[in-house]
Amino acid sequence: MTEPHPTNTGLFEAARRVIPGGVNSPVRAFGSVGGTPYFVESASGPYVTDAEGQQYIDFVQSYGAIILGHAHPAVTEAVVSAAADGTSYGAPTAREVALAERIACAAPGVSQVRLTSSGTEATMTAVRLARGFTGRPRIVKFAGCYHGHADSLLAAGGSGVATLGLSGSAGVPPSAVADTVVAPYNVVPELDDRIAAVVVEPVAANMGLVPPVPGFLEGLRQACDEVGALLIFDEVITGFRLGLGGAAERYGVTADISCFGKVIGGGLPIGALGARTEIMETLAPTGPVYQAGTLSGNPLATAAGLAALDQLTPEAYAQLEARAGQFADGMRGVLAGAGFDANVCQVGTLVGLYCGAGPASGWVPADYDDARTTDEQAYARLHAGLLSGGVAFAPGAYEAIFVSLAHTPEVIDQALALMADAADAAAAAAGL
Ligand SMILES: *Cc1c(COP(=O)(O)O)cnc(C)c1O
Repeated sequence: MTEPHPTNTGLFEAARRVIPGGVNSPVRAFGSVGGTPYFVESASGPYVTDAEGQQYIDFVQSYGAIILGHAHPAVTEAVVSAAADGTSYGAPTAREVALAERIACAAPGVSQVRLTSSGTEATMTAVRLARGFTGRPRIVKFAGCYHGHADSLLAAGGSGVATLGLSGSAGVPPSAVADTVVAPYNVVPELDDRIAAVVVEPVAANMGLVPPVPGFLEGLRQACDEVGALLIFDEVITGFRLGLGGAAERYGVTADISCFGKVIGGGLPIGALGARTEIMETLAPTGPVYQAGTLSGNPLATAAGLAALDQLTPEAYAQLEARAGQFADGMRGVLAGAGFDANVCQVGTLVGLYCGAGPASGWVPADYDDARTTDEQAYARLHAGLLSGGVAFAPGAYEAIFVSLAHTPEVIDQALALMADAADAAAAAAGL
């Protein structure tokens, strides 16, 4: 039943009765920051508006799926027009070919692409494909890297030395992660010929923002080549976000398999994996590695993705990087001015916030152990102040901050002014 004037609390109470925790993805819950999620009614450009009519300058941007800003007319028109022609067929379409060509053209090392409905499916398939292609069982992942919620990739496990992974979730039996080795980020692990693949976020954007140290990605490439393992770049965030060629292009390291999602769907459900033909044709129907999807390559998702990619010129990325820089620099100034201990990190168009002074100003975490020393309570105080001032940050201290092309310099200045107030209040509250 719809109430005439729903409130966030009213909606959340109703949501909690029928949806576990009231949310369809745990990252949307406010457990770690306190308070009630705002229920979005509509969004436009840099703004989201909640059920109570409160508008926020939005730096969540669907966790990076939105890059042009919300409800960009080109994307909206593409979706509306596609929907009029039917929403799913169970037969191939020209737009799937066009999107695959776009990805293959832009992404280093990719000559064929398989579209899925989520990033999780893309990474899950990439692992199965690597195992099928190499005939080897093991995968190496890095602590603090998120690759979606497939069993074998949920292992977060030990830090320090690479250890055999422990299940990162109840319901994942030890057997499901017995062949997952978890290693610390930014250290090239020792590999052997049991390893099918090393899977990595080339810029880690799910433990705050942790850039690869010089030599890390190059070292992974070399270590994989030495033992015949495949290198999998999970570019679900970085792909078409850092630039047309993603992190691979930015760092000049080419993976064997690349995974995409988020930006390439223009805000609709999508994922993709790509590699050279020899690897990709190991997938069914040309090869023995099975993978499928009723809604894969969905007509609306491909329409939205193509419309979004149409806007992403080199000039657009330069502009986005400048906006990210304006926000990152501004945040440094505003937070320092308020006496709020924090370090801000920028990698191209991506921005990350670490609450706490760190060993030095300008310090950035190098791995999960570092990242987890962030002051979650300080983040919660800042988050609450921002939200009440009209700025939406993710309700968790480990998410990247997403600036879109709709965040004009004026909007960013406005967000920074609101942040100054929030940081003053947060710093004062901490001193009490
Ligand atoms: C979001 C994300 C995924 C999972 O994508 P979904 O579409 O949420 O399934 C995988 N890898 C990375 C790096 C991500 O940020």
